[in-house]
This record gives sequence, structure tokens and C-alpha cells, in this order.
Amino acid sequence: MKETASDFIAKSAEKAVDRDHRQKINFNIGRYDAVVPAGKQQFANVHLARERAKNIKWKAIETLDRQLEKFEAGITKRGGKVIWAETAEQAREEILKICEEKNCRSIVKSKSMVTEEIQLNEFLEENHIESVETDLGEYIQQLANEPPYHIVTPAMHKSKEDVAKLFAEKLGTDPTLTPEQLTLVARQTLREKYTKAEVGITGANFIIADIGAIAITENEGNARLSCAWPKTHIVVTGIEKIIPSLTDLALFWPLLATYGTGQKITVYNTIVTGPRQAGESDGPEDMYVILLDNGRTNILANEKTRESLYCIRCGACLNACPVYKNIGGHTYSTAYSGPIGSVITPHLKNMDEWKHLSYASSLCGNCTEVCAVKINLHELLLENRHESVDEGDPSFAERMGWKMWKQAMLHRGFMNMGSSNMKNWIVNKFLVDWKKHRGNMEFPKKSFNQMWREKYGSR
Ligand code: SF4
Repeated sequence: MKETASDFIAKSAEKAVDRDHRQKINFNIGRYDAVVPAGKQQFANVHLARERAKNIKWKAIETLDRQLEKFEAGITKRGGKVIWAETAEQAREEILKICEEKNCRSIVKSKSMVTEEIQLNEFLEENHIESVETDLGEYIQQLANEPPYHIVTPAMHKSKEDVAKLFAEKLGTDPTLTPEQLTLVARQTLREKYTKAEVGITGANFIIADIGAIAITENEGNARLSCAWPKTHIVVTGIEKIIPSLTDLALFWPLLATYGTGQKITVYNTIVTGPRQAGESDGPEDMYVILLDNGRTNILANEKTRESLYCIRCGACLNACPVYKNIGGHTYSTAYSGPIGSVITPHLKNMDEWKHLSYASSLCGNCTEVCAVKINLHELLLENRHESVDEGDPSFAERMGWKMWKQAMLHRGFMNMGSSNMKNWIVNKFLVDWKKHRGNMEFPKKSFNQMWREKYGSR
């Protein structure tokens, strides 16, 4: 078994019995579940809205090359600079190059899962550049020296008492501060950082092809400050974030808000079309957009899993997943956790190392049921399993086991040859892994086939 898989199993086993963790997650997901139905009310037909969103993303991804070129032409006209990065390493190097040119020692950064994917903060730290998270949840996680727990709510696994304790330890505040007081502490600390940072880094929720712009969605205003205050703005985004037209936001903004947090619309929605233009009073002097591939074209090339690129990172599938709720976000050890993470990670990274995530599913289909853009997530998990088998990943013992099972299923007489005692002995002796968390399997004295024959004869 690969180290990634054994690590995943060990962490899962630990988290699944952690009652404190379970209580916090149930509480926070419970609050999410309570507000989402109200958000959905804004759609005359929410299923149709999701279907339309899926169709728009289908069109965008099927014509991805042309859409991206259109975006590049538009934003370049207004002075934005587009950088194409094939790998995480290239993206990091390009960012470092810009920072060196700008003599940058400190960065303010808004929430971005892509920067988690390329492990940007660690890299910047190694290069003696301070990178401060400005989203409150991300700031909490950075103080705790932990990666985000959830793609929308990074500190979902922490209670307000946990946060107060963390602030007291790291910032010397009173451990009895209320959430409002803690927010003010973060606000004051971060305001100062904005005034000093030479560079602001953000992600993009959408890349808008027709007007050549990026759209950012947030609730705190920190992303808007990160892109407007420092003299240089760097956007790091995956190429799949493309939508064909500005008008598509009329659908995607409310959809993302509802499925992400149960809101009708998120508090701050910003469209950035380039750096500050002549005659404008604010905005950065320079703007760079790093378009990251990092394995996404592997997914694009695969007709079956391609639809996972439609994802708008609302996080709804994580909240609905019984596995995620039990084992928590950190157990996955990847930037993207939950059902969507289990679908894309083996393709973004390496199937052999990460295929175990596709098996960590009950295949209940809850993720597909709640997906904002109707991605058939549970079927894609099955597809990953299929691909890993095709690539010859299963062990010799597993392959032999399935061959024998197939023969037994195809030849009823073969199954009838053994008594229930013999079947019990064989199955319980060889299914060692299966039995680790379960009791012995017990076959009934008479098989269904035998009972049928006794009752109806051999017709
Ligand atoms: S797969 Fe669907 S539900 Fe999950 S994060 Fe993406 S859009 Fe949301």
C-alpha cells in the first residue's frame, strides 16, 4: 500500500472516533443546511438553473483554448499581463520573479485554493517574503499553522472558543473575547499589513472570456483590498475557471452564493478588468494573471472525467458527504478535499498515489444530488476506480480474488459445491482487511438457490 493511502487510513480511523471534531462539524454543517433552502428560494426553478450552469460550463470547457485566448486578448489590451504556467513550480517561479522585480518583502493574499494547491505560502516563506492571509478563516488557519479544512470555510472545524484560545496564544489577546471582538483584532492587524504590502495576490472565482476580466466573490472585502491597495496585483487561477460571458455571472453569482453559504448573493462581488487606467484614482499599477494548468489538461483530455472541470468550488458536496463529515478535511492531505477532491486529485497528481481517495466513498450519490452544476460526482468516483484497475493498480491477490468470484457467480453449480461452513472458512480466512473493522461473515446453511429448488423444483 502506498504511504499516502496508509496515512489516509490511519488519519481517518483517528478522526472517525473523535467526538469533539464530530460535534463541531455537525454544528457548522447544520447551520449551513439550515440556510441553503432559503437561498434556493430565489430561483424560479433551481434545477433548471443548475442545468443551465452546467451547459454554460460545458460550452466553456469544450472551447477552452479559444475562450482563454479571448480572455488574454481582452485583458492584455488594458495592460494586464497574462502568464501561462504548466506546473505549480512554474507558477511559483513566475510569482517570485515578479516579487524580485518589485523588490517585494510582504504580500497580502486573499483566499485562494489554487495558491494552496501550489503551496505558495511555504515557497514565499523559504524566499524570505512574508505572505499574510487576509480572509478571516484563512488568517485563523495561518495562525494555527494548518492548511484550510474546507474549500469555502477554512476554519470550519474550530469553535469560537478554539479561535479565542488561538488568538490569545499567538496575538496575546484576552482568551474570553467574543467573535465580534476577535474579528476586530484581526481587522486591525490586517489593515496595517495592507498599507505595507508591495504585492497583493488573489485567486479568481471566474475568468470572463468576452470582456477579458476576472471576477472575485467574497464576504469580507479583503480580496478587494488585496487587489486594489498594493501597487502590484497578481491573480493565480486554474484555467477551468473560465465562463464565456459577463452576462453568465447573473446565474453563477447567485448559484455560488446559495450553494456555498446559503446566501442569495455574496457581500462583495468584484470584476477586475486590468490595472489602473489613465484617469482612474485607484487600483494597482501592474496586474498579472497566472493561468495554471498543473494537471487540468489531463482531465480535459479524458472525456469521462472532463465534467469535473465545471466545478465552481461551492463546497456543497463536502457538506453533504457522509465520509467528509466523519473523517474531516485534513485527512485527505490535499488542497481539494471531499467528493470533488477525490475525483480530481488522482488526475491532478498521480492516479497510483491518490486512487485511494476514489474508494473513500459510500457511493450514496448525495454529492451529485447537491452539486451546484450537476456534476455526476459519484459516477466519476467509480470511473476513477475503473481507470485505476485498467492501469493495473490492483494487487495480484485482489485480481485473483475477483477472477474466482466472477467464475463462481457465472457458474451456480460451483457455488453449490461448498457447504456454508466451507464458505465461511474460506471467506473469513482470506478477507483479512475486510474483517479488520467487521465481524466474521456468515453464510446461511442453505443458499437462496437451494431454497428455491426445494420450493419450486428446478424450473
Ligand atoms: S463539485 Fe459541485 S458541489 Fe462540489 S464544490 Fe464543485 S460545484 Fe460545488
